[in-house]
Amino acid sequence: MVKDKWIDKVVILGGGTAGWMTAAALSHTFGHAVEIVLVESDAIGTVGVGEATIPPIRTFHQMIGIDEAEFIRATGATFKLGIEFRGWLNENSTYFHPFGAYGVERDIGYFFQYWLRLKEKGQVADFSEFSLCTLAARSNLFAPASERPGDPLQHLQSAYHFDAGRYAKYLKGVCIARGVSHRIGDMLAAEHNPENGHVTGLKLKSGELVTGDLFIDCSGMRAMLLGQALGVDYEDWSHWLPMNRACAVPCEQKLALTPYTISTARPFGWQWRIPLQHRVGNGVVYSNEFATDEAAERCLLDGLEGEPLAPINRIKFTAGRRKTHWHKNVVAIGLASGFLEPLESTSIQFIQSSIQRLIRYFPDAGLAPVCAQAFNREATREIENVRDFLILHYHATERDDSELWRYVKTMRIPDSLQERIELFRERGQLNIAAEELFQSTSWHAVLLGQGIRPRTYMPTMALQDDAMLANAYSNLERNFKKIVSRLPDHAAYIKEHRLTSTMERP
Ligand SMILES: Cc1cc2nc3c(=O)[nH]c(=O)nc-3n(C[C@H](O)[C@H](O)[C@H](O)COP(=O)(O)OP(=O)(O)OC[C@H]3O[C@@H](n4cnc5c(N)ncnc54)[C@H](O)[C@@H]3O)c2cc1C
Repeated sequence: MVKDKWIDKVVILGGGTAGWMTAAALSHTFGHAVEIVLVESDAIGTVGVGEATIPPIRTFHQMIGIDEAEFIRATGATFKLGIEFRGWLNENSTYFHPFGAYGVERDIGYFFQYWLRLKEKGQVADFSEFSLCTLAARSNLFAPASERPGDPLQHLQSAYHFDAGRYAKYLKGVCIARGVSHRIGDMLAAEHNPENGHVTGLKLKSGELVTGDLFIDCSGMRAMLLGQALGVDYEDWSHWLPMNRACAVPCEQKLALTPYTISTARPFGWQWRIPLQHRVGNGVVYSNEFATDEAAERCLLDGLEGEPLAPINRIKFTAGRRKTHWHKNVVAIGLASGFLEPLESTSIQFIQSSIQRLIRYFPDAGLAPVCAQAFNREATREIENVRDFLILHYHATERDDSELWRYVKTMRIPDSLQERIELFRERGQLNIAAEELFQSTSWHAVLLGQGIRPRTYMPTMALQDDAMLANAYSNLERNFKKIVSRLPDHAAYIKEHRLTSTMERP
């Protein structure tokens, strides 16, 4: 590449999780070839939540050169093997959405289809018995996934729960050591190139002008650059995902250090429990159409297992996204690009995939619009797929004990989701594209957990020898139980591997 065609300077607005993750990844990728400046306000806070992740965070950390043990100690992180959903199908139901595949999907294709055939004949255990993550989580056991080819423990995929505030602080240290410039200041307005409308600089309250070639909007829900300076509209999805409020509070840990998140459905929304090493994160997500703030806060405080450790953090949001995520020379990453409620812990993942996409389509100084088009197309597909997955949790329910559940159960859902549910209901098949974030493990867990039972299986399944299949499944079930029984306790694993938090309590 000819040096004078490079983007020389990238300006990131915002010092929350999105801002520092972006700065860490760009500084790792470009070194000193691109100047990186991060501007954040010390008057406007960060959103202050965001503690549960999904497995690709591990790849991201490898990609940006983060040492796992150092990160765990710095953020008080614990491990996560999936999410337990309580009360989502009906008030007494529980199911687990695990990471890692069910069974040995790669060895015998159509693992779920063969299982369906055996299930019809009453010759096989529940599908959840074939997930190592589910079995380990049930007993609070944990070990990292094996990297040995053919080892079933390859399927013990995991992510982390961590302290989001500490995470941003930790990444900030990494970035500053790598030469990222850090400015404290409130952006009041953007300056534009009068010919093409591109942003040329950020005017700060101090009077300083921070100029750049490419601007990354990580300013949170305010979307100061993409939304306010460039006027890109917000697409509102609250008719499908009506939750629009959250209240959150950390508390002392009194119950087990579970290697999973708990999501408990309530009459007006749902509640999370996320255990960290030094505290437990709790929150209630609800809609002000179906509950008062007082009722949600009462539910939050009544459900705490220990003393609260901070005041309640109250957050308002609207489910949806910016109509384009990259416009002119501004790319929005994090809450500035949109938000879906944290039901499947996807926001930090969206930050990560946006960063990877930005690096893939990183423009030269000509800013060819085709780069933005490719970026926007992929970003749209990603968030729409996740949107459908979240809607499934609400729509496929037996609950009708409150106005919220009656609404979501009967609402019209996107055609893309309707089609997917119908195909599964008909013959247990899933039409998932390779690039989708949630693959068959996730859809199987939630479709079955939410009570959708396939009418039959694919016709080719009837050609198999049932006795041989039944034998293979029962051997596998026995083998999985044996493997899991040898795993260490989650809390003991953290201690024995010297991953204990180096942080003070909040
Ligand atoms: C209730 C709730 C629970 C969540 N739980 C999860 C979860 O479990 N897992 C997950 O992956 N995600 C979760 N998220 C999402 C997650 O919190 C965010 O995706 C993540 O923190 C990124 O936020 P951000 O950096 O985009 O924005 P913010 O944290 O809001 O940061 C914005 C930054 O912009 C700066 N800024 C704003 N305006 C200006 C200005 N004018 N001048 C200068 N600086 C400015 C602020 O100072 C701040 O530094 C949750 C979100 C909510 C609301």
